Amino acid sequence: MTRDLLVVDRVIKRFGGLKAVGGDDGLSFTVPEGTFLGLIGPNGAGKSTTFNLISGVLKPDEGKVLLDGVDLAKARASEIAALGLGRTFQTPRAFPSLSVLDNVIVGADSAGERVGMAFSGRWRDSEGALRDKAAAVLARVGLSERINDHVGSLSGGELRMLEVARQLVRDPKILLLDEPTAGVDPSLQSKLSNILVDLHAEGRTLIVVEHNLHFLLRIADRVVVLQNGQLLSQGTPAEIKADEKVITAYLGA
Ligand code: ADP
Ligand code: MG
Repeated sequence: MTRDLLVVDRVIKRFGGLKAVGGDDGLSFTVPEGTFLGLIGPNGAGKSTTFNLISGVLKPDEGKVLLDGVDLAKARASEIAALGLGRTFQTPRAFPSLSVLDNVIVGADSAGERVGMAFSGRWRDSEGALRDKAAAVLARVGLSERINDHVGSLSGGELRMLEVARQLVRDPKILLLDEPTAGVDPSLQSKLSNILVDLHAEGRTLIVVEHNLHFLLRIADRVVVLQNGQLLSQGTPAEIKADEKVITAYLGA
């Protein structure tokens, strides 16, 4: 049996008077290692908040999140980084004045000590291997021809691919992507879809939030559906597509 890499156990998260995640009993679900989980639900369902809880950015008010057996609310940032979790944000984050390559190199460094070197253009000789690795992940996401360009000149879709590259350079065991297809044109979307399928085949655990159900239901192997911060349904893509509760939630009936 595959072990659970992620355990979300009766989690509740409030913002002021609003219970963004958890409903009455708290949100619970588990993610076995190697799963490609799709996390879906209407706007405001609590998907991004759940991401923040399972990456340790937010702490639950009640319940706990265990990643590889480690309680994220009690772990230090460096311990969380050592667990091999990578994530992208709903709004891409990058240094616009740096080159595409330098952004990936800076992304490899969770302590932030390479940021100064990037801005001064003075890299240590020992950064050579990292440059090669950064160039390799940029090739993987289709940005080879852009490596020397400033990030400010990238399209929205290219920026998303850069975000993925910034995470891949750290070789994450578990990768969380928040709406990776938003603002991405169809040809880049199919490239992204292929990359995710490959990362899954490599044995990595993926959790992807998407509005684009067509994109996600073709490639995920499990789906969790949230509504009002609660678990509405979970199962395989086929089960989810046939679930009346999910259909009703999406039709807004
Ligand atoms: P989703 O990503 O599914 O669209 P979110 O997790 O972003 O949903 O938000 C869930 C609910 O929590 C929404 O009602 C949203 O307005 C609210 N919310 C999210 N973040 C905050 C915050 N930092 N402060 C207050 N309310 C928030
Ligand atoms: Mg969101």
